[in-house]
Amino acid sequence: MNVIIFGPPGAGKGTQAQHIVGKFNLYQVSTGNLLREEVKNQTEIGKDIENIISNGDFATDEIVNELIKNIVFDPLRKNKLIFDGYPRSLSQAENLDLLLKDSNQKIDFIFFLNVNKDTIIKRIKKRKMLEMRSDDNTTTILKRYDTYMETTKPVLDFYSGKANFYEINGDEKISEISRKIEQILSV
Ligand code: AMP
Repeated sequence: MNVIIFGPPGAGKGTQAQHIVGKFNLYQVSTGNLLREEVKNQTEIGKDIENIISNGDFATDEIVNELIKNIVFDPLRKNKLIFDGYPRSLSQAENLDLLLKDSNQKIDFIFFLNVNKDTIIKRIKKRKMLEMRSDDNTTTILKRYDTYMETTKPVLDFYSGKANFYEINGDEKISEISRKIEQILSV
């Protein structure tokens, strides 16, 4: 089974993705983690995107599309993918559809974690203390939220009419969100 989990920064996508990975033996595809890895390793891509990420802007569609291509076509990970933080734009969503079609796969579940701004600010401040991410300060959080709303709203419109789309209240306790997702995936 392949799953998409999406929602604004701080919605708990990564936390929920990790939980599902453990329970259902899936492979987490986090473009945020992949991009941070590029920055850490100071690759050509990494040097280009370092400032973009720190400022709370999005990497280009070309860069992220390229990063996930090999993963989608990896036979060991076929039908075991959970996308966390991808797609984030309509063009990425269309690209993902194409890649999945070309590799004989489909998306089985789409979860949208809907969270209000106050919860996000609270969660990201907490994460900043735990993970020391360069993009977790209040100005950047708000910028990332606005960028998300602008660019990702079309992704929500793209998926929300589908039969396998589930909106989850992301303001609830993390364990409660996990329980709901697990229940849907176990049917
Ligand atoms: P995340 O770990 O998902 O919160 O992502 C951290 C940052 O990486 C984002 O604020 C963006 O700058 C960048 N990023 C992650 N995923 C994408 C994507 N699918 N498209 C563009 N930029 C991305």
